[in-house]
Amino acid sequence: MPDTMPPRNDIAEAIQRIEPELIALRRDIHAHPELAFAEHRTAGIVARELTRLGIAHQSGIGGTGVVGLIEGGRPGPTLAIRADMDALPIEERTGLPFASTVPGLMHACGHDVHTTTLLGVAALLKELAPQLNGRVKLVFQPAEEVLAGAAAMIKDGVMEAPEVDMALGFHNQPDMPLGRFGFVHGACLAASDRFDLVIHGRSGHAAHPDKAIDPIVAAAHFITTAQTVVAREVNPIHPAVVTIGAVHGGTVHNIIPDEVTLRGTVRTLHPTARDIAEAALRRLAAGLEAELRTPSRLAYERLVPPLVNHPEILERGVAAVRAQLGEVVDAMDPSMGSEDFALFAERVPAFQLRIGSGQPGRQDRLHNSAYQPAEAAIGLGAQALTRAALDLLR
Ligand SMILES: [Zn+2]
Ligand SMILES: [Zn+2]
Repeated sequence: MPDTMPPRNDIAEAIQRIEPELIALRRDIHAHPELAFAEHRTAGIVARELTRLGIAHQSGIGGTGVVGLIEGGRPGPTLAIRADMDALPIEERTGLPFASTVPGLMHACGHDVHTTTLLGVAALLKELAPQLNGRVKLVFQPAEEVLAGAAAMIKDGVMEAPEVDMALGFHNQPDMPLGRFGFVHGACLAASDRFDLVIHGRSGHAAHPDKAIDPIVAAAHFITTAQTVVAREVNPIHPAVVTIGAVHGGTVHNIIPDEVTLRGTVRTLHPTARDIAEAALRRLAAGLEAELRTPSRLAYERLVPPLVNHPEILERGVAAVRAQLGEVVDAMDPSMGSEDFALFAERVPAFQLRIGSGQPGRQDRLHNSAYQPAEAAIGLGAQALTRAALDLLR
């Protein structure tokens, strides 16, 4: 039944009117990227635009976060729509006229596009506010790339006063052509956990290993055995990844060092797999002492849970995008990447929409120094999210 709803021309016309301003804003933000929790200029632009639109807002939520509130014409639930604002420590190599002016920093994940898209949604929903049964909280979040901004905003009360009942998130998707949208049933992004393991040995001459205790061999043993967590312990129908991304130890050819440090990440889509992987890695680390005489210290940190789409919000959100833009939405496979919108989705029913941002003839990737998202993704994304908000608060 929702699929037969017609597109709303008022949304399409309004976005056409403001799209040039949105693209100019995006280029300004793109030229001035800021790292996690340092999004001062970006947050200033957001606050300025919300003021210009007459939308009540608060700055300094979760550090550099900004929260706007659009009251609907009639009472109803509160829908949060979240955009992330931070850039990455990457030297930009696009050669664009509006490329980063900050050496070593770049909006290579398209969060400049996200911030601008949500400002577009803000403009559209402000005009259409009398039609909303409920209210929309516009959540401009810092520090997604370090998976810390959502937690900081939640700690500062973003989910309260008024209490959030449901949430929409979104991300640009360069491997999906402009004009297409995507969704994943259930868990769409993985839980992200990380660990630091320090393995203690006893230093000595490399020619006399019997007089030393070798933490390098113990590290090699741990690295190999850690792969059995995925291969032999986690249920094979539950995806899991254990990657050791850093190995530090030793100085030269002929010295056995005192210690080796390993750093790794664990990604899982299911809570049971997450528990099993953590328990197994703890057991393997603890076992090094009995096996190889190398006591170890494991610091294991759970960062974010899997991002799980709520079936009803997903279904209504996808129906809204189809109603507005046509048969442009496809089901996708989950990814073992992570995103801290998961913390919102852990608290309230939520849905993350993927917005195609691929340009013809380019093979762009996120976090790449030459990434160029299609700017028309801003207008299309704003239309899709605005329609979803209107339909969720009907
Ligand atoms: Zn990213
Ligand atoms: Zn991102």
